[in-house]
Amino acid sequence: MFDLIAFDADDTLWENEAHYELAREQFHQILSPYILTANIDELMDQTENNNIPYFGYGVSSFIFSLIETAIQATKKQISADDIQRIIDISREMLDTKIDLYDRVEPTLQHLSKKYTLMLITKGDLLHQHSKLNRSGLSGYFQYVEVVPDKTLEIYADILSRHKIDPARFIMVGNSMRSDILPVLELGARAIYIPGKLSWSHEHSELPDELADNFVKLEHLGQVAEWINGYTG
Ligand SMILES: [Mg+2]
Repeated sequence: MFDLIAFDADDTLWENEAHYELAREQFHQILSPYILTANIDELMDQTENNNIPYFGYGVSSFIFSLIETAIQATKKQISADDIQRIIDISREMLDTKIDLYDRVEPTLQHLSKKYTLMLITKGDLLHQHSKLNRSGLSGYFQYVEVVPDKTLEIYADILSRHKIDPARFIMVGNSMRSDILPVLELGARAIYIPGKLSWSHEHSELPDELADNFVKLEHLGQVAEWINGYTG
């Protein structure tokens, strides 16, 4: 029996990475008239990774990285009009409609009758709350944690604040790096549901010694059945 079941949000409950892929394509189009000095995808990945410790996760940090990439790759030739077009991409991303995955709502509805549910998501505070409100799912979560990163220390802090024994906690998410590994390292359980698309930053390998508390399912609709059948 679990005292707390937590869900990741982006690419676990709703589509997210697809919006970033589309933004990267639009960015390529904006830069296409320029003579570029670098491989854009590599420079973009590198710039994003360098900026995460300063600006964190989310659309604002991403767009900042695109602007920085554009300045570098064009040797400062990018026009103010084109920088504005990059900023406009961020507004589209922030306003875009929420596409819930299949079976999300019935699963949360079912589980919330028997368990305490929490949403744990990283990214821009305002955007994450806005997505949850627009998703229509906020009523199923007793607690919402928008965190700057998903590390072992941050999960340990959440569990200690809520007085939850890690052995009675399970996390459901699409990222090995953020939703699964730190949770397993704490001695809790984790259900991994790979997304259709995933950001290279979130990839990680599962060490054999952590595999016992790990479950991989194909889609979110299988979560309630697995949890109901759990006898530990
Ligand atoms: Mg996710």
